[in-house]
Amino acid sequence: MERIVYVNGEYVNESDAKISIFDRGFLMADGVYEVTTVLDGKLIDFDGHAKRLTRSLNELDMKPACTDEELLEIHRELVKRNNVEEGMVYLQVTRGAADRDFAYPKDAKPSLVLFTQDKPGLANSPAAQIGMKVISIDDIRWGRRDIKTVQLLYPSMGKMMAKAAGCDDAWMVEDGSVTEGTSNNAYIVKDGVIITRHLGNEILSGITRAAVLRFAKEAQMKVEERSFTISEAQDADEAFVTSASTFVMPVVEIDGTAVGTGNVGPVASRLREIYLDEMRKAAI
Ligand code: PLP
Repeated sequence: MERIVYVNGEYVNESDAKISIFDRGFLMADGVYEVTTVLDGKLIDFDGHAKRLTRSLNELDMKPACTDEELLEIHRELVKRNNVEEGMVYLQVTRGAADRDFAYPKDAKPSLVLFTQDKPGLANSPAAQIGMKVISIDDIRWGRRDIKTVQLLYPSMGKMMAKAAGCDDAWMVEDGSVTEGTSNNAYIVKDGVIITRHLGNEILSGITRAAVLRFAKEAQMKVEERSFTISEAQDADEAFVTSASTFVMPVVEIDGTAVGTGNVGPVASRLREIYLDEMRKAAI
């Protein structure tokens, strides 16, 4: 069945959606995005995603396409029109269509596109019981990973390298330290302390990361925001990743070495449970 998608002010069937071939998102990856999860037909942490979107746009001198209130309305309308109970709303804003030039166009109107993805069983994913296997790869992405741009080719290549190695994902490494996963933030747990890389231009400030660290602190768990290496991670008691669509997902193997017992650990399981409980309660 065709989805109803949103393109620049209109709700249309997905096969009728149109964007200019001159759109800078298409020509130059000159665009930013957000992915908001839907559980029980409601949006998880919409405010967090809206705030990060505003930041990404500001960092690129890009105009917002509409207000946060309008964005919320569009998200809700799409969830309703497509009957999404569990899944995602993908949002993309680009600088808009203009004759191709490296300089930013003066008067381009931003393009705004949103669509939903149905993902039944997201919260009860069997992967969360089994845990993921990751490989490490060099982080050769650009230097402003704090901006959530649509230039995702290297993360996409990383995912393919992981699949080719019989694994689920890749952790990227720069100057000897883990930056993040291809589409998630990376964590280890050692002697009860949750360790995850500090924020900076080298990683995306995950909306799920912020919530999980807040819940961990509220549950009196110790948190250290600092770099760690792959060998430290292989020697940890547990490892996991966080993202809007996977919540808290355990990692049980890194570059062929089992982490801890090689099974899903108690800290990741507990954080996943707390995160899902709390976020369902706060969903709008
Ligand atoms: N890091 C990268 C590179 C990502 O692409 C993502 C999500 O897409 C994340 C981290 C996690 O961010 P969030 O928790 O906001 O989904």
